[in-house]
Amino acid sequence: MKAIVNGRILFDGQIIENKALLFEDKIIGIVDIQEMSQDVEIIDAKGHYVAPGFIDIHIHGYDTKDTMDGTEEAIRTIAKGIAQNGVTSFLPTTMTMSKEEIITALEVCRTVKAQGSEGSQVLGVHMEGPYINEAFKGAQNGKYIQEPNADAVQFVKDYQDIVKLITIAPEIEGANEFIKEISNNTGIALSMGHTKADFNQAMEGIEAGITHTTHLFNAMTPLHHRNPGVVGAALASEKVSCEMICDTIHVNKGLYPLVMKAKAPDKFVLVTDCMCAGGCKDGEYALGGQAVFVTEGSARLQDGTLAGSVLRLNEALRNVIEHTEYGVEKAIEFATINPAKTIKVDAFKGTLDTGKDADIIFFDDAVNIKYVINRGKTIHENN
Ligand SMILES: [Zn+2]
Repeated sequence: MKAIVNGRILFDGQIIENKALLFEDKIIGIVDIQEMSQDVEIIDAKGHYVAPGFIDIHIHGYDTKDTMDGTEEAIRTIAKGIAQNGVTSFLPTTMTMSKEEIITALEVCRTVKAQGSEGSQVLGVHMEGPYINEAFKGAQNGKYIQEPNADAVQFVKDYQDIVKLITIAPEIEGANEFIKEISNNTGIALSMGHTKADFNQAMEGIEAGITHTTHLFNAMTPLHHRNPGVVGAALASEKVSCEMICDTIHVNKGLYPLVMKAKAPDKFVLVTDCMCAGGCKDGEYALGGQAVFVTEGSARLQDGTLAGSVLRLNEALRNVIEHTEYGVEKAIEFATINPAKTIKVDAFKGTLDTGKDADIIFFDDAVNIKYVINRGKTIHENN
């Protein structure tokens, strides 16, 4: 058994000091120092915050590799790289590309998930498309957009052991049937995104079974007071959570407090939507087969369209703490238990509750990651 001492433990919306966090591969509990037995191995948190590991449910790549590379090496490189940012589990995210390429990516992720990975743990896959609207494709390749028809339902069911989340445009032909079928008969969560739906179509999608919103504001119909769009539906409905790319580029930081008022505490999710240039220097990279130019923290296609981000999840948390009234003890939930709930892994991930996986991170006041534990094993140390 191991014990973390001298940390500020983030638990249940509070900061707990002068206690020890006991764990093996699972969390054992938070106890008084005096209650610890003699033979535990002590880890000194040196006054840093002690938190559950981050969960990134929308990330394409890192350190030059992309989920769509279709190789185990790519997934393993991403897993290793993002662990340094405090991400202890994640959903490699596919793009709207050919069916063959999506199949390869799904099968590779299935293998890595089963075998385990050094660094961050693969929990499954986020399929971003191919069932999206051409008009709001963003940096997805319109050539490979597919209809969510009966074949698509069968395809997804064949991969329901690995697919955890699907981004879909609820207004396209066949989408409502697809959403009903998948939400009623699988454990896969559905998210509205890359969508031209109007407010009513978005609400119909939510009634059909959508429970999440892919990068709120980006690649969807905006909020107009007489025509509130997908943004309006996402903010107004209590049934959907919203993820946001809080790099201060994808959404103006002045809006963060407003979105929090609608979606916090439990329906707001931080994601990176990071592409393969994450963790790398500026230059030319690729996303979904298209050239992407990375400069000063933004990743764009030749025409200026934002193409994912190079955001790290610890930076996203830092930005939210800096630009909203939420302190770290509450904001931590946006990167931990909230994404865990979105993809239905909250029974064993997302908090430091007894019995959950011992995914634990330490960070300082500026959310610089100092120490990372994945299911009881130390996987990163930065002192
Ligand atoms: Zn994406």
